[in-house]
Amino acid sequence: MNDHRRLGRELGLFDTDPLIGSGLPFWLPAGAAVRKAIEDYVHELERRHGYQHVNSPVLGKRELYEKSGHWAHYAEDMFPPMLVGGEEFVLRPSLCPHHALIYRSRQRSHRDLPLRVAELGGMYRSELSGVLGGLTRVRAIQLNDGHVFCAPEQAADEVSAALDLIEAAHAQLGIQAVRYRLSLRGEGTKFVDDPPMWERSEAVLRDILKRRGRAFDEERGEGAFYGPKIDIQIADPAGRESTLSTVQVDYYQPERFDLGYTGGDRPVMVHRSVVGGLERLVAHLIEVHGGAFPAWMAPVQAVVLPLSDAELPAAEDLVRRAVEAGLRAELAPADRGTLGARIRAHRLVPYQLVVGPREVASGQASVRLRDGSQAGPVPLAELAERSRHRF
Ligand SMILES: [Zn+2]
Repeated sequence: MNDHRRLGRELGLFDTDPLIGSGLPFWLPAGAAVRKAIEDYVHELERRHGYQHVNSPVLGKRELYEKSGHWAHYAEDMFPPMLVGGEEFVLRPSLCPHHALIYRSRQRSHRDLPLRVAELGGMYRSELSGVLGGLTRVRAIQLNDGHVFCAPEQAADEVSAALDLIEAAHAQLGIQAVRYRLSLRGEGTKFVDDPPMWERSEAVLRDILKRRGRAFDEERGEGAFYGPKIDIQIADPAGRESTLSTVQVDYYQPERFDLGYTGGDRPVMVHRSVVGGLERLVAHLIEVHGGAFPAWMAPVQAVVLPLSDAELPAAEDLVRRAVEAGLRAELAPADRGTLGARIRAHRLVPYQLVVGPREVASGQASVRLRDGSQAGPVPLAELAERSRHRF
């Protein structure tokens, strides 16, 4: 079974240290390369779909979370405040309040809407040590987040557009959702007590799911404190489910932050995450691909294998040219073992470039693919182009 914790260690993707703390993994070079490739892909996907990217701090004053409603409804999942200079600061439990203030920082008019704001940013959750493990339950999350501020009559189309984006990304990443869940409010103080508001936002999400012909389950008590969610569920090899992507309709925070625009009343906030937190996403991708990542996200895209020491200078030159062409490439010299042993050690690398006397003479690399098939001599520029191919 592909357990991401075992593969993560074997492939040098990530690790933890008790001195940093549980639930706080760090990314090793191979894992950081995978993560960066995904970050770049999602950033470009969002840009092509009209998002503007922002950056905001990972903490804010306690009053910010009192205003957003987190303090009243979500405090038990938050880290306790830090006292600095007589003020209390909290590690953020979500990016929404910062984005609401970014919206409010400029005068907005009906013509500016929908305003789509995205950020890949840190958020923090005070999970108990007992439930933490690998990349799936962590205390520091790097979240692919975004908020669409739109007029009420635009909300349904924006929800649908967010689902299009999610489905496109899943296809590209090789993710298969196990089910769509419409997550509704439950009883108690974890949910804002405003039944008409909930009915309105639930209707928007339910109508869109029906209009798109998607099968879905409705579950009470799984909503956000401010509104319902469409949650797109994935499962690990043991069948344990978790939420990866989400789309939410929120009438609450625009009210709390007194958001407005000229030519209309209050904008609606559509919260959406295309691929969720990068920790959970990469854990899932490790398991889905068994470590054999598609070329565009592979930690090492090309390994250069000289047949013997005689081809070492040519092989070193090839690595240099591959890196120059934009590939993540490395050398596996002959002193590391037989060609067969070196190929086995790099069996997850998409392009294996064997350099023998013939290749030295021709100046081209013979490409061997992961499945053992030969792609023949391929110019480096073409290999680099192929490994960039995501859209
Ligand atoms: Zn949000």
